[in-house]
Amino acid sequence: MDFELTKEQKDIQRAAREFCEAEYDKDMVLDMEREHKFPWELLRKAAGLGFVGVAVPEEYGGQGYGLLEELLVTEEFCRQFGGIGECVVSPETLAKLLLFNGTEEQKKKCLPSIMRGEALISVAFTEPEGGSDIIFLRTAAVKEGSDYIINGNKIFNTYASIAKWDIVLCQTDPEAKPTYRGQTLLLVELDREGIEISDFEKMGWHAAPTCSLFLSNVRVPQENLIGEENRGFYHTVEFLNSFRVFMAGVGMGVAQGAFDRALEYAKTREAFGRKIGEFQAIQHRLADMHLKIEMARLLAYKAAWEIDQGRTDPKLCSMAKLYGCGIATEVADAAISIFGGHGYMLENEVERFYRDARCYPIVEGTPDLHKNLIGRALLGLK
Ligand SMILES: Cc1cc2nc3c(=O)[nH]c(=O)nc-3n(C[C@H](O)[C@H](O)[C@H](O)COP(=O)(O)OP(=O)(O)OC[C@H]3O[C@@H](n4cnc5c(N)ncnc54)[C@H](O)[C@@H]3O)c2cc1C
Repeated sequence: MDFELTKEQKDIQRAAREFCEAEYDKDMVLDMEREHKFPWELLRKAAGLGFVGVAVPEEYGGQGYGLLEELLVTEEFCRQFGGIGECVVSPETLAKLLLFNGTEEQKKKCLPSIMRGEALISVAFTEPEGGSDIIFLRTAAVKEGSDYIINGNKIFNTYASIAKWDIVLCQTDPEAKPTYRGQTLLLVELDREGIEISDFEKMGWHAAPTCSLFLSNVRVPQENLIGEENRGFYHTVEFLNSFRVFMAGVGMGVAQGAFDRALEYAKTREAFGRKIGEFQAIQHRLADMHLKIEMARLLAYKAAWEIDQGRTDPKLCSMAKLYGCGIATEVADAAISIFGGHGYMLENEVERFYRDARCYPIVEGTPDLHKNLIGRALLGLK
């Protein structure tokens, strides 16, 4: 067993860290938070240096590395920038639904501009009524000649209001039993007639718009079919394995960023004539935070490494997501405690890390859902 990253992996990690440190500007970050701005400039700069598309083949504008290398970069961006960093690294991950299942023509059309940081793609599974249960979709696509006509409503569709394309999971066979055998993924250009999009106001992650998507008689051609008709659910589930590991990387990156800030503060802040780091209560908090991050990292790296070896383990992906996303809020919360009242103020950033991280356990499967998946896998249940 070898826990050492290769020299190339260490170089990638170092390059991402140096880029993030050089680009970090607290005023810029606070402005994005207050104004709810998407970090287009940071995304384009990062893309120009190869930090977007790390695990995407070169022919589509990526670097051709694996998920582990993508995770190393994800961690550094989220560590330095919190949820703003996630905005830089997530376009690549979302685009993988197309990379894994799209036609050559679709991939050539969409992926290079996403990897250059010029366009975004979003994914729309969740619906107002179904929520976690994507098996019962109300959004339907009906064939008319060689086109699909889509009607329905998706919610919590991140980036839809600023993206160029959306990948929409639709019910194409209403008679299918079970229903998920009649679901299809369609590529939808977001400037098509019949589309309405509105942004939610949310607790955190303000740099990323999260939207409602209304589709009313939206017509898309046959060539927008992604993968096989009526296999959309299976394509989605396969994609979610790598997405879950990515989310684990986001969680531990944000946790590490909150920890770094709290550690620095504990070394400098004085109370009762001593550095607060000399109080055992603070030391224990730091020790717990560090332990959680290290455990999250081990799980996430292992899950990514397994995928890179061609041996996807869905249980391990769920475990990495469940743990890595769960500890992000716990660690950020502990960081706020170490900062005391200063932790509650925007300028010290740990409260933003907490608010950004609070959605991670919810997005892409709540803890309950992942425990269901892990438990069923342990019991050998389908
Ligand atoms: C910021 C943000 C961004 C998002 N971005 C996207 C996106 O880009 N695309 C997209 O498709 N979705 C997105 N989502 C949706 C997200 O994946 C869903 O919110 C999530 O799947 C949960 O669905 P729900 O909110 O309807 O909760 P519900 O499904 O209504 O769950 C409510 C509660 O019931 C529990 N519960 C539900 N079913 C079970 C069960 N079987 N067993 C035990 N407990 C259960 C849940 O754990 C939860 O505690 C986003 C969500 C957020 C908050």
